[in-house]
Amino acid sequence: MSEPTTGPRSVLVTGGNRGIGRAIAEAFLAQGDLVAVTTRSGGAPDGALELKADVTDASSIDGAFADAEAAHGPVEIVVANAGITRDTLLLRMSEDDWADVLDTNLTGSFHVVRRAAKGMLRLRRGRIVLVSSVVGLLGSPGQVNYAASKAGLVGMARSLARELGPRGITANVVAPGYVDTDMTAALSDEQKAAIRDRVPLGRYASPAEVADAVTWLASERAAYVTGAVIPVDGGLGMGH
Ligand code: NDP
Repeated sequence: MSEPTTGPRSVLVTGGNRGIGRAIAEAFLAQGDLVAVTTRSGGAPDGALELKADVTDASSIDGAFADAEAAHGPVEIVVANAGITRDTLLLRMSEDDWADVLDTNLTGSFHVVRRAAKGMLRLRRGRIVLVSSVVGLLGSPGQVNYAASKAGLVGMARSLARELGPRGITANVVAPGYVDTDMTAALSDEQKAAIRDRVPLGRYASPAEVADAVTWLASERAAYVTGAVIPVDGGLGMGH
């Protein structure tokens, strides 16, 4: 069994410049960890190392990890958070709508975890957290591409949990419901009200509430949790 770490840990969060990823980066920073965030557009939180990278491009992700490791040491905690939507009904969904979402959300996460696992296997410890969505298991009209990509992350995490568990590495999924970010700002007031009506807790999550689940999964308290899907959805997805 690997020794628990003491002191700050090297953390990398994709899409850590805004929304949920930013809240995750800030939560690790608040714990005193060494945090690198990848972004395409810039704007990392104060105290984080900002790295330009596109998750759809494996070599750009490799470069970001190399920079993070040079600054902070081997990445011990990785959060694959970067994601997009291209919502539309099935018969209107173009090849590009499908491919862009799968390339970013699913293949992008593959690029990130493959690179992260290299260092973690050497360390014989590590925490992998994939940011999925309640929609991955519940389904959602107009989100065939997005739901497929997010469901794929569950199979990915569970396979990682089996493959990497013997080397002291955990892999888990956080499945948020609706969270107040740029992604959901695009919804109309009517859509937002309809969503709130379906959520037992009657409101959206804050990004910080999602970050709490991620930092817990990365903590020593969650050392025996792997292959899990942790909902942070106000009860929306119960039973899924
Ligand atoms: P935002 O739209 O606010 O932010 C998306 C983030 O992903 C940005 O940091 C963006 O970087 C990054 N990103 C997108 N595409 C790429 C790419 N190709 N390469 C690198 N980075 C990229 O989204 P949220 O914060 O709302 O969502 C974060 C995650 O949480 C996503 O995976 C999303 O699917 C998931 N989620 C969100 C929910 C919500 O209600 N908001 C609910 C459930 C899950 P940049 O700014 O540089 O473009």
